[in-house]
Amino acid sequence: MTEKKLIKSWENLPLPPEEIEKRKQKLEKLFEEVLTTLGFDWKNDPNMVETPRRIAKMLFELTEGNFTPRPDITVFDLTQMDNDELIEYVPVFVGPVEIKSLCSHHFLPIVGEVYFEYIPEDKVLGLSKIPRIIKWLARRPMIQEFFTKQVIKTFLKLLPDIKGMAVYVKAKHMCMSIRGVNESNAYMITEAFYGLYEENIELRRNFLNKVSK
Ligand SMILES: [Zn+2]
Repeated sequence: MTEKKLIKSWENLPLPPEEIEKRKQKLEKLFEEVLTTLGFDWKNDPNMVETPRRIAKMLFELTEGNFTPRPDITVFDLTQMDNDELIEYVPVFVGPVEIKSLCSHHFLPIVGEVYFEYIPEDKVLGLSKIPRIIKWLARRPMIQEFFTKQVIKTFLKLLPDIKGMAVYVKAKHMCMSIRGVNESNAYMITEAFYGLYEENIELRRNFLNKVSK
Protein backbone atom coordinates (compact mmCIF):
# COMPACT_ATOMS: atom_id res chain seq x y z
CA MET A 1 0.00 0.00 0.00
CA THR A 2 1.25 3.47 -0.82
CA GLU A 3 2.09 5.78 2.07
CA LYS A 4 -1.06 6.91 3.74
CA LYS A 5 -1.60 10.37 5.14
CA LEU A 6 -3.42 9.90 8.42
CA ILE A 7 -5.90 12.47 9.69
CA LYS A 8 -7.50 13.38 13.01
CA SER A 9 -11.13 12.37 13.64
CA TRP A 10 -12.43 15.90 12.97
CA GLU A 11 -10.38 16.51 9.83
CA ASN A 12 -11.21 16.06 6.15
CA LEU A 13 -9.06 14.53 3.44
CA PRO A 14 -11.02 13.62 0.29
CA LEU A 15 -9.94 10.29 -1.22
CA PRO A 16 -10.31 9.02 -4.78
CA PRO A 17 -12.90 6.19 -5.08
CA GLU A 18 -10.21 3.63 -5.90
CA GLU A 19 -8.38 4.40 -2.64
CA ILE A 20 -11.65 4.00 -0.68
CA GLU A 21 -12.23 0.67 -2.43
CA LYS A 22 -8.74 -0.49 -1.53
CA ARG A 23 -9.22 0.42 2.12
CA LYS A 24 -12.62 -1.33 2.21
CA GLN A 25 -11.02 -4.55 0.98
CA LYS A 26 -8.32 -4.30 3.63
CA LEU A 27 -10.93 -3.59 6.33
CA GLU A 28 -12.97 -6.57 5.22
CA LYS A 29 -9.96 -8.83 5.80
CA LEU A 30 -9.34 -7.24 9.19
CA PHE A 31 -12.94 -7.75 10.29
CA GLU A 32 -12.79 -11.41 9.26
CA GLU A 33 -9.93 -11.61 11.73
CA VAL A 34 -11.91 -9.71 14.38
CA LEU A 35 -14.86 -12.12 14.13
CA THR A 36 -12.57 -15.16 14.20
CA THR A 37 -10.71 -13.74 17.21
CA LEU A 38 -14.01 -13.12 18.99
CA GLY A 39 -14.74 -16.80 18.45
CA PHE A 40 -17.28 -16.84 15.63
CA ASP A 41 -17.43 -19.41 12.85
CA TRP A 42 -18.59 -16.60 10.57
CA LYS A 43 -17.65 -18.38 7.33
CA ASN A 44 -20.24 -21.08 8.01
CA ASP A 45 -22.87 -18.80 9.50
CA PRO A 46 -25.39 -17.58 6.89
CA ASN A 47 -26.08 -14.51 9.05
CA MET A 48 -22.44 -13.54 9.35
CA VAL A 49 -20.73 -14.61 6.16
CA GLU A 50 -21.18 -11.14 4.60
CA THR A 51 -20.66 -9.22 7.83
CA PRO A 52 -16.99 -8.26 7.35
CA ARG A 53 -17.88 -6.74 3.97
CA ARG A 54 -20.91 -4.95 5.43
CA ILE A 55 -18.93 -3.47 8.29
CA ALA A 56 -16.18 -2.24 5.95
CA LYS A 57 -18.76 -0.57 3.71
CA MET A 58 -20.65 0.90 6.65
CA LEU A 59 -17.55 2.41 8.21
CA PHE A 60 -16.88 4.45 5.09
CA GLU A 61 -20.50 5.54 5.00
CA LEU A 62 -20.32 6.73 8.60
CA THR A 63 -17.08 8.64 8.00
CA GLU A 64 -18.12 10.29 4.74
CA GLY A 65 -17.38 13.67 6.25
CA ASN A 66 -13.75 12.69 6.66
CA PHE A 67 -13.10 11.35 3.19
CA THR A 68 -15.41 13.16 0.76
CA PRO A 69 -15.06 16.77 -0.39
CA ARG A 70 -17.11 19.55 1.20
CA PRO A 71 -20.53 19.97 -0.46
CA ASP A 72 -20.61 22.94 -2.81
CA ILE A 73 -22.14 26.06 -1.42
CA THR A 74 -24.09 28.83 -3.10
CA VAL A 75 -23.59 32.39 -1.91
CA PHE A 76 -25.96 35.16 -2.94
CA ASP A 77 -24.57 38.67 -2.89
CA LEU A 78 -27.28 41.01 -1.58
CA THR A 79 -25.34 44.13 -2.49
CA GLN A 80 -26.27 43.39 -6.10
CA MET A 81 -29.90 43.94 -5.24
CA ASP A 82 -31.43 47.18 -6.35
CA ASN A 83 -32.10 49.11 -3.19
CA ASP A 84 -31.22 52.51 -1.84
CA GLU A 85 -32.11 51.81 1.75
CA LEU A 86 -29.87 50.13 4.18
CA ILE A 87 -31.08 46.60 4.70
CA GLU A 88 -31.53 45.51 8.28
CA TYR A 89 -30.56 41.89 7.90
CA VAL A 90 -32.72 39.40 9.74
CA PRO A 91 -31.68 36.21 11.49
CA VAL A 92 -32.00 33.10 9.29
CA PHE A 93 -33.06 30.04 11.29
CA VAL A 94 -32.71 26.44 10.06
CA GLY A 95 -33.69 23.36 11.99
CA PRO A 96 -34.00 20.68 13.04
CA VAL A 97 -31.22 19.23 10.90
CA GLU A 98 -30.92 15.51 11.61
CA ILE A 99 -27.43 14.26 12.33
CA LYS A 100 -26.15 10.71 12.54
CA SER A 101 -22.65 10.35 13.75
CA LEU A 102 -20.25 8.22 15.76
CA CYS A 103 -18.60 9.03 19.04
CA SER A 104 -14.86 9.07 18.63
CA HIS A 105 -14.38 7.33 21.97
CA HIS A 106 -16.38 4.13 21.31
CA PHE A 107 -17.44 4.31 17.64
CA LEU A 108 -21.06 3.98 18.73
CA PRO A 109 -23.85 6.03 17.13
CA ILE A 110 -24.77 9.56 18.06
CA VAL A 111 -28.22 10.52 16.75
CA GLY A 112 -29.57 13.98 17.16
CA GLU A 113 -30.54 17.31 15.72
CA VAL A 114 -28.92 20.64 15.09
CA TYR A 115 -30.57 24.07 15.06
CA PHE A 116 -28.65 26.82 13.34
CA GLU A 117 -29.20 30.53 12.97
CA TYR A 118 -27.09 33.26 11.44
CA ILE A 119 -27.31 36.95 10.73
CA PRO A 120 -25.86 37.70 7.32
CA GLU A 121 -23.98 40.82 6.36
CA ASP A 122 -24.03 41.39 2.59
CA LYS A 123 -24.10 37.78 1.49
CA VAL A 124 -26.46 34.91 2.27
CA LEU A 125 -25.97 31.17 1.95
CA GLY A 126 -28.19 29.01 -0.23
CA LEU A 127 -30.69 27.61 2.27
CA SER A 128 -30.34 23.89 1.50
CA LYS A 129 -26.56 24.17 1.71
CA ILE A 130 -26.74 24.80 5.44
CA PRO A 131 -28.08 21.31 6.36
CA ARG A 132 -25.71 19.76 3.83
CA ILE A 133 -22.67 21.31 5.46
CA ILE A 134 -23.91 20.39 8.95
CA LYS A 135 -24.54 16.76 7.95
CA TRP A 136 -21.14 16.55 6.25
CA LEU A 137 -19.42 17.82 9.41
CA ALA A 138 -21.37 15.32 11.52
CA ARG A 139 -20.35 12.31 9.42
CA ARG A 140 -17.12 11.87 11.33
CA PRO A 141 -16.27 10.31 14.66
CA MET A 142 -17.05 13.24 16.94
CA ILE A 143 -17.02 14.81 20.34
CA GLN A 144 -20.26 16.80 20.49
CA GLU A 145 -18.68 19.75 22.31
CA PHE A 146 -16.11 20.17 19.55
CA PHE A 147 -18.59 19.55 16.73
CA THR A 148 -20.79 22.41 17.99
CA LYS A 149 -17.87 24.83 17.71
CA GLN A 150 -16.76 23.32 14.41
CA VAL A 151 -20.13 24.23 12.85
CA ILE A 152 -19.47 27.89 13.70
CA LYS A 153 -15.85 27.81 12.53
CA THR A 154 -16.81 26.19 9.23
CA PHE A 155 -19.55 28.69 8.36
CA LEU A 156 -17.27 31.53 9.36
CA LYS A 157 -14.70 30.31 6.87
CA LEU A 158 -17.34 30.12 4.14
CA LEU A 159 -18.82 33.53 4.93
CA PRO A 160 -16.30 35.60 6.92
CA ASP A 161 -18.51 38.69 7.16
CA ILE A 162 -21.32 36.87 8.97
CA LYS A 163 -22.51 39.10 11.88
CA GLY A 164 -23.70 36.46 14.27
CA MET A 165 -24.27 32.73 14.60
CA ALA A 166 -26.02 30.41 17.03
CA VAL A 167 -25.84 26.62 17.13
CA TYR A 168 -27.82 24.25 19.34
CA VAL A 169 -27.16 20.50 19.29
CA LYS A 170 -29.30 17.91 21.03
CA ALA A 171 -28.26 14.28 20.67
CA LYS A 172 -28.41 10.83 22.16
CA HIS A 173 -25.15 9.00 22.57
CA MET A 174 -25.46 5.23 22.30
CA CYS A 175 -22.26 4.81 24.28
CA MET A 176 -24.19 6.19 27.24
CA SER A 177 -27.53 4.46 26.43
CA ILE A 178 -26.52 0.89 25.69
CA ARG A 179 -23.40 0.41 27.78
CA GLY A 180 -21.55 1.93 30.70
CA VAL A 181 -24.05 3.95 32.71
CA ASN A 182 -26.94 2.53 30.57
CA GLU A 183 -28.88 5.78 30.66
CA SER A 184 -31.19 5.76 27.63
CA ASN A 185 -33.30 8.84 28.23
CA ALA A 186 -30.61 11.43 28.66
CA TYR A 187 -29.73 13.86 25.88
CA MET A 188 -26.59 15.83 25.54
CA ILE A 189 -27.25 19.46 24.72
CA THR A 190 -24.56 21.89 23.61
CA GLU A 191 -24.75 25.46 22.36
CA ALA A 192 -22.32 27.85 20.78
CA PHE A 193 -22.70 31.52 19.92
CA TYR A 194 -20.69 33.88 17.79
CA GLY A 195 -20.66 37.62 17.12
CA LEU A 196 -23.90 39.48 17.91
CA TYR A 197 -25.23 36.49 19.85
CA GLU A 198 -22.35 36.71 22.30
CA GLU A 199 -23.46 40.11 23.61
CA ASN A 200 -27.16 40.17 22.84
CA ILE A 201 -29.24 38.14 25.29
CA GLU A 202 -32.45 38.98 23.42
CA LEU A 203 -31.12 37.41 20.20
CA ARG A 204 -30.07 34.30 22.07
CA ARG A 205 -33.46 34.03 23.77
CA ASN A 206 -35.31 34.40 20.44
CA PHE A 207 -33.13 31.73 18.91
CA LEU A 208 -33.65 29.29 21.78
CA ASN A 209 -37.42 29.89 21.63
CA LYS A 210 -37.44 28.65 18.04
CA VAL A 211 -35.65 25.46 19.04
CA SER A 212 -38.33 22.85 19.66
CA LYS A 213 -37.45 21.21 22.91
ZN1 LIG B 1 -18.57 7.27 23.38
